[in-house]
Amino acid sequence: MSVLEDIKAIIDNAEKILIVTHENPDGDAIGSSLGFMHGLRKLDKDVTVYIPKVNKMYDFLPGSEEIRHELGEDEKFDVCVALDSSDIERLGEGKAWFDKADKTIVIDHHITNQNYGDANYVNAVACSTCQNIIVVLASMEVAINKIMGTCIYAGMLTDTGGFRYNVQSETFEFVSMLLEAGIEIAPIYRNLFDLTTEARTRLLGRALERLEVLEDGKITFTYVTKADEAEFGCQDGDYENIVNYGRNIEGVEVSIFFREKSEGSIKVSLRANDYVDVSLIASKYAGGGHLRAAGFSISGSMEQAKNIVIDEIKKQLQ
Ligand code: 5GP
Ligand code: MN
Repeated sequence: MSVLEDIKAIIDNAEKILIVTHENPDGDAIGSSLGFMHGLRKLDKDVTVYIPKVNKMYDFLPGSEEIRHELGEDEKFDVCVALDSSDIERLGEGKAWFDKADKTIVIDHHITNQNYGDANYVNAVACSTCQNIIVVLASMEVAINKIMGTCIYAGMLTDTGGFRYNVQSETFEFVSMLLEAGIEIAPIYRNLFDLTTEARTRLLGRALERLEVLEDGKITFTYVTKADEAEFGCQDGDYENIVNYGRNIEGVEVSIFFREKSEGSIKVSLRANDYVDVSLIASKYAGGGHLRAAGFSISGSMEQAKNIVIDEIKKQLQ
C-alpha cells in the first residue's frame, strides 16, 4: 500500500482525531491544522485541533476559534496527526498526546523529517505542509472548499515568503485550485503581511535599535528579551519576521536573531541570502530547517551564544 492509502485506511477506521503541530506555530502549522480539520469533518470525523498558544494574527482563519489550548487528562483520541513538525520533540506539549494515540500520522515538508508516525507523508519538494494537505485530502476524495482553501493558502503564502522561496510551477497549479474553490487572496495577504499591532511594532523597534552589523557588513545580529516582550505586552509569535530585517540589508549574508525563551535559554533564528548553509549550523545544535532559514535552541548568556553562532557562520563566510 502507498502511504496515502495507509493514511486513508487509518482515517477510515478512526472516529476521534486529534491534530497537533510544532511549538511556536507559524502560518503553515496553523493553516494546515485548520485546513485538515475542515477537510476531515467532510468525512464526518470528530476532529480536535490542539495548539497551546496561537498568535492573534491568525484569528481571521476560519475555525481558529475552535482551536483547543488545553486538553483534559482523560480525553481519548483514536488517531493523532502531527503536521509541519520534523521531529517528535518539536511537538512540545503535543508530544504526550502523539505518544498516547493508538495510531499516528505525520504530514510534513521538511527534508529533515524523522518519519516518527505509523504513516508518514513527507514530500520535501512541496512548498509547505499545506500543499501536502491538498494532496492528502484529494486522496480521500475530499473536495477543497473556500474555508479549507483559505487556511491552506495562508500556509502556502507564509512558508514561501509570499511565493518567493521553494516555489515550483506546481505550486501555482495548487493555488489555481484554491482560487477555483473561491478563496479571496487580498484579505488573507493583508492579515498575514500588512496588519500588525502596536506591541509587534514596538518589539520590532527595540530589535532594530539594537541591530549590530558585523564582519564587514556580512552578518547582522539582534535580539529581544523576555522583559522586552513583557514591557510591550507581546504575544507568542510577535517576534516572528524580525530576523528578515537584518537579511534585507545590502551586503548582508547572514542575519542572526535571538529570542530569550527563559533565563539562560535562547532561541536562535538564522537567515542566509546566497551561500551560507544555515541548516548545517542548526543541525549541529539539534535544530533544523532549510538551507537558508533555520533555527535551534542554545543555553548560556546572550554574549556566549552570540560568539558561538558568529564563529560557526565565519567558517562558511567567503
Ligand atoms: P524560524 O527561524 O522562523 O523559527 O525557523 C526557520 C526554519 O527553521 C523553519 O523551517 C523551522 O521549522 C526551522 N526550525 C526553527 N527552529 C527549529 C528547531 O529548534 N528545530 C527544528 N527541527 N527546526 C527548527
Ligand atoms: Mn512549514
